[in-house]
Amino acid sequence: MKVDQALRAICSTGKGRCWYCDAKLPHAREAIQTGWDVQRIDQHPVASIILVCPTCLQLKAELGEAGFLRNLSLRVTSVTC
Ligand SMILES: [Zn+2]
Repeated sequence: MKVDQALRAICSTGKGRCWYCDAKLPHAREAIQTGWDVQRIDQHPVASIILVCPTCLQLKAELGEAGFLRNLSLRVTSVTC
């Protein structure tokens, strides 16, 4: 799967959002330039393809998968409280 092709396809629906932080997907060209990623999640029952914004990609790289998810759930909790 080509990431830029997938980004264009998702952009054309106008519904693209980061799977983790809910950031809105910008226009296709901007998304490709800023480094949005499209990843496969095979375990997920419904969506097999997710979008990840550059901020979350970087955080994930810095913290590792487990640390990133912990950080994310803390953020989500603080937002809803
Ligand atoms: Zn994000």
